Amino acid sequence: MIPNTDYVVVGSGLTGAVVAHCLRAANREVVIIEKRDHIAGLCYDKIHKPSGYRYHVHGPHAFRTQSTVMWNWLNSLVKFYPFKLRIKTLIDEEFLVWPPSRAIIKEMCEGQANFTFTGIPANFEEASLSKMPYKVYSKFVKPYTEKQWGIPANKLWVGLSGRFQVRDDDADINLFSHRYQGLPMTGFTGLVEALIKDIPVIFNYDFKYKENQTCFNKKLVYTGAIDEFFEYKLGQLGYRGMSHETKYYEDGAKHKHTVPIYNFPSSNPKYIRSIDWEHWQSPETSHENTKDKALISYGFPKKPTSSDEFAYPILIKKNTDLLEKYQNYAKEKNSSVVFCGRLADFRYYDMNHAIARGLGIAQEILQKDYKGPVLADGKI
Ligand SMILES: Cc1cc2nc3c(=O)[nH]c(=O)nc-3n(C[C@H](O)[C@H](O)[C@H](O)COP(=O)(O)OP(=O)(O)OC[C@H]3O[C@@H](n4cnc5c(N)ncnc54)[C@H](O)[C@@H]3O)c2cc1C
Repeated sequence: MIPNTDYVVVGSGLTGAVVAHCLRAANREVVIIEKRDHIAGLCYDKIHKPSGYRYHVHGPHAFRTQSTVMWNWLNSLVKFYPFKLRIKTLIDEEFLVWPPSRAIIKEMCEGQANFTFTGIPANFEEASLSKMPYKVYSKFVKPYTEKQWGIPANKLWVGLSGRFQVRDDDADINLFSHRYQGLPMTGFTGLVEALIKDIPVIFNYDFKYKENQTCFNKKLVYTGAIDEFFEYKLGQLGYRGMSHETKYYEDGAKHKHTVPIYNFPSSNPKYIRSIDWEHWQSPETSHENTKDKALISYGFPKKPTSSDEFAYPILIKKNTDLLEKYQNYAKEKNSSVVFCGRLADFRYYDMNHAIARGLGIAQEILQKDYKGPVLADGKI
């Protein structure tokens, strides 16, 4: 049973944590319920023993934002250290920088680097081919994307190609060019802990089975899957899942990576990427006991079998139409429930987007419920 409270937040991922933080900062009563046995949702990380390395349990997370206000606010909660993500892709037995630069494309295509598609792209394949020649696309992008999504690239949506850009600068091999990029000294778990300190969290509490026991006076903020909330009444939204296996190698030398992540587009191996956690550690981490060893995670694409495994929303028309139906249904049914976060919004949010969404929702709730000026710390 949860204590009597004004607001219940379902989910202690970044979105729920930010909403709860803002409500608490505005002196409101709030309780978080969480179905897992840990906070921080998908960006949960922990220390591996015996290496002492921090690793991300549900897949690698690197923070980035263009917002000075957001960056300063987060750094006032926990300190971040600089971290820029670099990725290499295994192509013809060689690890090449991803995404490729214009110079590499020219070299691969022996000067014939014409784009294969010039019209208005209608799908992911066409959008990708407007950025690079077919030869490069067929090695770097098509097999990786189809392995990841389990769907032909020409059936995937255009917007997905917005997640990569061909690099202009050959020397800059960072994946992203955001002004602020880093990792929290205490991990993302530490960031969420800082956000929700003083807020009660009830673990192993699945709202799905305890809806009738969940009382609140003002609002329920729900960051779980929207179709699950409505017991899939109108149908099921499609997600791609990912599972991760982490191994510690005593004979580390042959497993170490030259960059934080390697991508594997080919169908062999079964995993799609591997993560070498040595690259992700804070400058204060000692590598004395680990220099011959390696801590590596492997990410496997999979069809999710439960909502815990929902990783990436499949944003095809069938799903976006269904989402709209759920959103309309939600408007009719539940004025006291607010839906937000990557699962409730069925959106691909990066962490900065989840944080911004949480801040926006908290502001909306407080303005509606109290008609006053609100956030104690940060308008972003
Ligand atoms: C593999 C992978 C890698 C990623 N890497 C990056 C990256 O490098 N950089 C980046 O910026 N973003 C990255 N992201 C995106 C990032 O994970 C999300 O932006 C962020 O986790 C969204 O937070 P959230 O709170 O909306 O959702 P979640 O983190 O999913 O939190 C939702 C929480 O609600 C709980 N919950 C759900 N249903 C219920 C219920 N019925 N009852 C109780 N609790 C419930 C869940 O257990 C969970 O704790 C990545 C995502 C994936 C899948």
